[in-house]
Order: sequence, then C-alpha cells, then structure tokens
Amino acid sequence: MALTPELHSFYCDLHVHIGRTSAGNAVKISGSRDLTFANIAREAAERKGMELIGIIDSHSPGVMQDIRDLLMSGEMAEADGGGVTYRGTTILLGTEIEIREPDRKECHVLAFMPDLAAMEDFSAWMSRHMRNVNLSSQRLYAPSRVLQEEICGRGGLLIPAHIFTPHKGLYGCSAERMAELFDLEQIAAVELGLSADSAMAGYISELDRYSFLTNSDAHSLGKIGREYNVLELAAPSFGEFRLALERREGRRVGANFGLNPRLGKYHRSYCAGCGSIIDEAAATSERCPYCGSAKLVQGVFDRILHIADREQPLVPDHRPPYHYQVPLEFIPGLGKAKMNALLAAFGTEMNILHRAGEAELAAVTGPELAAQIVLARSGELALTSGGGGTYGKVSR
Ligand SMILES: [Zn+2]
Ligand SMILES: [Zn+2]
Repeated sequence: MALTPELHSFYCDLHVHIGRTSAGNAVKISGSRDLTFANIAREAAERKGMELIGIIDSHSPGVMQDIRDLLMSGEMAEADGGGVTYRGTTILLGTEIEIREPDRKECHVLAFMPDLAAMEDFSAWMSRHMRNVNLSSQRLYAPSRVLQEEICGRGGLLIPAHIFTPHKGLYGCSAERMAELFDLEQIAAVELGLSADSAMAGYISELDRYSFLTNSDAHSLGKIGREYNVLELAAPSFGEFRLALERREGRRVGANFGLNPRLGKYHRSYCAGCGSIIDEAAATSERCPYCGSAKLVQGVFDRILHIADREQPLVPDHRPPYHYQVPLEFIPGLGKAKMNALLAAFGTEMNILHRAGEAELAAVTGPELAAQIVLARSGELALTSGGGGTYGKVSR
C-alpha cells in the first residue's frame, strides 16, 4: 500500500491576468503594463506569499514564448505533477474564455492545463475558433460542450469564473442552471467571485457537489491575493490541485478567504438611472425608489434569490470555512510607507495577515493601525454595501 504523504496548507490565488508580454505586446488591454509572467511569479513568491498561483492568459502565444524563455534560462522549471515552479511558488497555466450560447448572454470560464505542452496544443485549437488568440478573455466561437471536451480531453480543468457577477458570470447573466450549458460531470470547481460567499451559493442545489474557489481576478500586481484559498496538498502542483478540487486522498480546499460580499462591487442592485444602490427593503420593486427609473441592474444577492431552488441556503459538510477578510489595501491609514515597513518586518502579506501577532504588528505600525489589521483579518471592520460597480467601503 502506498504511503499517504504528509499534507500541508498552501496559500493559492488562481486567477491573475497578464497585462503585457515581456516584449511589450498587450495581452489584457485593461491590465497593468508590469503584469508580465515573470513579474507575477516574483510578486506572488516574494511579496504576497502565494505558493500556488494561476496565471490566466498563459494561452497567449507571446506569453508561452516568455514561459519557454524562463524555462530555458533555468529561472523557472516544470513542476513534478504539472505547473511551473519559481522559488517556493508553483504557477498553474490557465486561460479565461468567453462563451456565448445562442439566445444567451456571454459568460467566462477558466481552463487550466497540466503543462506547457498541453497549453500549446489547446491554444492552437482555440486559435481556430477565436478572432485573436493573443488577447485575454476572448470569445470562443464553438459550443460550450465542445469546449468542455477539448479542455477535459487534454487533461485540463474547467472552472466557471466569477459565477454570480452580473457581467459575464454564468449564473449572473447566462443561465439559471449550469446544466443548461455544461455536462456537470466535467466541471472541476466553481469560482465564487467578489460579491458572493459560500452561504449565498448554498441557495443553488446543483452547486453542492463542487469545491468553491475564491480568487482575486487581479488586473494589477497589487491586487494579487485580494481573495485567495488555502489548499491542503502534499505539494503545490497541478495534479495535487486536481485532487484537492475532487476532495480525494485527503487533499481539499481547506478555507476560502474573500471579501465580505457586502464589499463587492455588485452585491446589491442599483439604478443605472441615478446610480443609487437599492437597499434590501426596496430591492424587490421594479422601479428605483429614488428616481423612478426602471433601469435597475440586479445585484448578486438579488440574482441568487431570484434563481434559488431552496428557501434557505444549505452548506454541505465538506464545505470549508469562508473567512471574510478585508484586503490590507482597504485599511484607512495603511499607506505605502507603512506597508513597506510591515513587509520588511514580516516578509510577505500572508505573514502579515496570518502569522504576525498584534503586538508584533504594533511594534511596526503603532497600536491603532495594528488593531485595524487584526479587525481586517477577522472580517470585523465595519463596512458599507457595494453595488453598481463600486466597492463597499470601510466605515471608520
Ligand atoms: Zn471574467
Ligand atoms: Zn479574469
């Protein structure tokens, strides 16, 4: 009988975009210029303390050239079990794809491939069904179930992205049930997105079986780790990631760390006429209670209640805790200088959030800010609701 290897907790953020290739070619136009494959790896390993990072846009031919160069130079190596290693961090090669089925709105899915060869092969396939395979999150002109076969047939993982967002989320705007678009047997997990948590997703029974991921969807280096996961793995690799999503051999998602949904940009419904966020009591009406406009955009929470097939949310026993955490960047008074002092003292953001005691923090930032950081990591900072594309705020 094979020995069960010892498992450890790893910090993981599986949705980080590329802005440019190292040659300066645009990949995600709205992404920041310094968001290259090498810089993301460095930021994740050295500043954030993320041990497994999913780099979305690894399908872009210019990015794959960067990866080949980094492997050739010896700065990075292919990991046993799949992925690319850089210092203590393993990078999973992923891509975000826009699909649009007839008579539906478009939605985004993530695909992860075990290694560079599989990603090259997959990218070549996609290039025949896309206008410009160099760019991020492009529309794929192929049926969703064909895409699913192409991903799974290469040993890849299909994970619907930010599933509840009104903008390109599967449940947010494309479908009321995932089964309308995909074979549920070949969905590896789902990504919750910034305005929902595990309890909210528990209103939809077809999600019970899936592991949930909470990722940053970062478009800049600073946003890496805005949301993240703890995965229990033997080592950070693609193969271990797959086992964790399937909850096999002890591997699992051990915790989700996300914004309180109330801080998310799309939590509540809002009025496109006057910009007001519609509060809970008035959210059921057809018109804006403030200006009378009928141009209401449904927020995540309201959409979930609309498509729910349960009266009360159910959280299955396998579901790990979902910890509300306010990102360090939201904390009033924690500017660049204080942040750099904290990093100099504790190494990485994960150390600041998880390993430093309040007294140790206070020695660097003073007691007031240290107390705020402690409240932020336990999700206890007071917040106002977000909606209509504006984040909620820390109210002091
Ligand atoms: Zn997306
Ligand atoms: Zn994205």
